[in-house]
Amino acid sequence: MIRVFEPKLSLKDKFFVYKSLAKNEISGTSKYVKKFEDNFASYCDREFGIGLSNGSVALDVAVNLLNLEDGDEVIVPSHTIISCLSAIIRNNGKPVFCDVDKKTWNMSLEDIEKVYTDKTRAIIVVHTFGLPAQISLIEEFCKKNNIYLIEDSAEAHGQLENGRKCGSFGDLSTFSFYANKHITTGEGGMILTNNKKFYNNALQLRNLDFTSQRFKHENLYWNYRLSGIQASLGISQLEDIDKTINFKIKQGNKYIELFKDYLDLFQLPLRESNGSINHFWVFGVVLKKENIRDKIINKLFDKGIETRPFFWPLHLQPALEKYSIKSNNLKLEVCEQLGKNGLYIPLGKHINFKDQEYIVKSLVDSVRTNN
Ligand SMILES: *Cc1c(COP(=O)(O)O)cnc(C)c1O
Repeated sequence: MIRVFEPKLSLKDKFFVYKSLAKNEISGTSKYVKKFEDNFASYCDREFGIGLSNGSVALDVAVNLLNLEDGDEVIVPSHTIISCLSAIIRNNGKPVFCDVDKKTWNMSLEDIEKVYTDKTRAIIVVHTFGLPAQISLIEEFCKKNNIYLIEDSAEAHGQLENGRKCGSFGDLSTFSFYANKHITTGEGGMILTNNKKFYNNALQLRNLDFTSQRFKHENLYWNYRLSGIQASLGISQLEDIDKTINFKIKQGNKYIELFKDYLDLFQLPLRESNGSINHFWVFGVVLKKENIRDKIINKLFDKGIETRPFFWPLHLQPALEKYSIKSNNLKLEVCEQLGKNGLYIPLGKHINFKDQEYIVKSLVDSVRTNN
């Protein structure tokens, strides 16, 4: 079976993990956590980093820091992971869904302006699949309108927009280091910010509201710490991030070549947009023929190829009903189109060029023979 992704750790990665074990640097108070935070913040041109247990927690803490009041609206693209929605609802926000661009699959400023109101307090921008959103334009918009900007960069480590690093925009940015991200700590996440107050509050939020008055707490928080073992792996992974990204760019571009005669069947990701080249966190394709995606996924699976559907739109999530959020008469055409007809195919160091040829051929055959 060709898996959609498999993590590949180097000997150096393993050595770094071993080092944390050998030196007893294993818990959330390990100096390796601070080192990883500092290294990653500096790589992204930010002042402060707060390591956390995963990227969903990073979003949760980031939204929590904004102190939303009931009815405060937070704009979020509908084509993204459920973590963004959970973070808004868990922290008293009202999610307001926007559509995404047909070609980049990212939310644009125009999509935001369509749903912006005087109750908008924050925007979560997500860079999707390795191509950055129009984050500098959106940052300007947020500044002008005095609203918070959270940048979910979980799919865009090391990406640039307008010459600036993704993760350096807005008030807070969030990352995941899950096994399939550009750099991994197995599970893990981080918030980056330049705001000292956010930084200090986030440290408390991560650590059961411990302050200098030990064991006296004003808030009931959770334990969201990252371990020294994870951080040590992260330090090693970050050293090699450019190599990892270059590999994915090459592999993604190879797919684009292999698909070039089949553009009647598939919409492909853009190689570049607005001066940023696609880093292909994943390689997504959208089937031009409607409503066959799930069948194609099964057919490919039978041929030994694992794939994944695109995100199911947030505004259509069954969970919304429980929170009395009515969004099912909302029409976000692009997100719905992508949710129904998009899938991503294997990409990463576990496959070679021959595998890529086989995957494309199998996908083309499956679509052609489908009726
Ligand atoms: C992976 C991802 C997350 C969540 O990260 P976890 O570490 O898996 O919790 C959040 N946002 C986006 C855009 C992601 O791709």
